[in-house]
Amino acid sequence: MDRNPMDRRSFVEKLIALLLVPLGGAAALFRNAAAADTEYNPAGHYYGMGIQIDKCIGCGRCVEACKDENEVPREPFFFRTWVERYSINSNNEATVQNLDERLATGRQQGIEAEQVRSFFVPKLCNQCDNPPCVQVCPVSATFKTVDGIILVDNERCLGCRYCIQACPYGARYLHPVRKTADKCTFCYHRIAKGLSPACVEVCPSQARIFGDLRTKASVLTRFRRMNKLHRLKPSLNTEPKVFYSNLDGEVR
Ligand code: SF4
Ligand code: SF4
Repeated sequence: MDRNPMDRRSFVEKLIALLLVPLGGAAALFRNAAAADTEYNPAGHYYGMGIQIDKCIGCGRCVEACKDENEVPREPFFFRTWVERYSINSNNEATVQNLDERLATGRQQGIEAEQVRSFFVPKLCNQCDNPPCVQVCPVSATFKTVDGIILVDNERCLGCRYCIQACPYGARYLHPVRKTADKCTFCYHRIAKGLSPACVEVCPSQARIFGDLRTKASVLTRFRRMNKLHRLKPSLNTEPKVFYSNLDGEVR
């Protein structure tokens, strides 16, 4: 994760500019993304994702595809989506490791000899219905679209990191080049054209399911109807829109 101090001068200049030109950049961003397909009607959708834990093989193709699609830096500590490997030992203790970091460093954590089971958990922004990241942003650079996606307006973002600290899922990072907050958008530029997010498209085992939460005929609706589902950190009242099936109780 980038820990360089923010450029104070550009921060102050940006803040002054935003105070002089209130709200409008966010609306423009939303219009531009939605205009990727002029037929696209955001009001007709409300998106979510399903993840089938028992189908994820930990290949990491989703992480690679996301980086390629969304100009996420190649370094292993920047990601919009990532895959964690959970190893449970004979004392029922869980060890968690981000696969991307492990592939980069060659290190493995945990006591492999005592491991009794392991599984993979893909993670990403939960596109929360009650998002703390939106609440803390001092300039409304982070906002929620009518189709339920949380986006960041790079022109408004100050790089203050409040949203990064507020997200309880570690789903945001500061882009090292743009110096603005970045995170998963469900590939908004793709879904506005009727395409699936890149991670969903490349997954060889269909572990990820993308769709409309309010459409009765969607694959996501069927997945939700047919499976016992869990969401991450439900006690925080963030109302995630990423739903997991076959999620182990050790996952946090
Ligand atoms: Fe798991 Fe699919 Fe990602 Fe591979 S591409 S790590 S199977 S979610
Ligand atoms: Fe915001 Fe984090 Fe929720 Fe995504 S997962 S909407 S970044 S609080």
